Amino acid sequence: LIQLFRPLDMLGMVYREIKQGLIDMESMFALIDTPAEIADAPGAPDLAVRGGEVRFDDVRFAYEADREILHGIGFHIPAGRTTAVVGHTGAGKSTLSRILYRFYDISSGSVTIDGQDIRSVTQASLRAQIGIVPQDTVLFNESIAYNIAYGKPGATQAEIEAAARGASIHSFIERLPQGYDTPVGERGLKLSGGEKQRVAIARTLLKNPPILILDEATSALDSTTEAEIQAALGAVAQDRTTLVIAHRLSTITSADEILVMDQGRIIERGTHEALLARSGRYAEMWALQAAESRAEAMAAE
Ligand code: ADP
Repeated sequence: LIQLFRPLDMLGMVYREIKQGLIDMESMFALIDTPAEIADAPGAPDLAVRGGEVRFDDVRFAYEADREILHGIGFHIPAGRTTAVVGHTGAGKSTLSRILYRFYDISSGSVTIDGQDIRSVTQASLRAQIGIVPQDTVLFNESIAYNIAYGKPGATQAEIEAAARGASIHSFIERLPQGYDTPVGERGLKLSGGEKQRVAIARTLLKNPPILILDEATSALDSTTEAEIQAALGAVAQDRTTLVIAHRLSTITSADEILVMDQGRIIERGTHEALLARSGRYAEMWALQAAESRAEAMAAE
């Protein structure tokens, strides 16, 4: 009987290997995939970033013909400042970040960085200047050092550690049995959502881009982790032009400007204080989230 099971066992292993291979490929495509129609203009120059000022001017966009998703979006992030976008699911927040990274081209209006239309420069140079900390980070089945160094191929161990410190994950890594050589990902150590996000922050610190897109995790983290991540995100956003896609309003109260989106339009904008004083949609969302966190705190007692 054992003789019979052995080949089956082998088959199982082979199957798992192939499946893992496919997952890895999917992950790679998720990282590099772009719609085919996006191409560099002939002879396009590289983007020349001075401060990294981002400007959306009357941007209209549709994923599919006949269904416009963004209906004339305009905002401006001065170099080194932070703009946060809030609004219900489906409002168009993530679409803004995909457009800035030029996964898609817009139907009308313009998106510029330091005055250069992003459609007129090479995609490689555009993407080299933008760091993304996504909601859910893809980890490769490699060492944690490799996963951080992905932000800057050829990074030295000292650079990797400095980035890990900046992302508040260095001491966690040092406590692992194999330290920076510990394998992570599907076949290695499974990291929590908060730990994965800190790996993404470390990657971004290594890449050191002047422009940053932070896509805040929707999943709730415990409050200690949350505070640590916020500190790490604050550090990475410092002096970079930052677009934050936010889910928890408590994390963006110090943003230079907050845009409230609804069904592809900006319906309110201003600082946290100004928006509260308006007693509009933002103030409503704020009151709702405050009530929710009071209820959670009571439930936890
Ligand atoms: P948010 O980030 O605010 O939740 P999104 O920007 O993801 O909103 O989505 C805005 C709208 O665009 C939604 O109606 C969504 O269904 C639609 N949408 C998002 N991605 C695609 C896509 N790849 N193809 C078609 N429609 C999409």
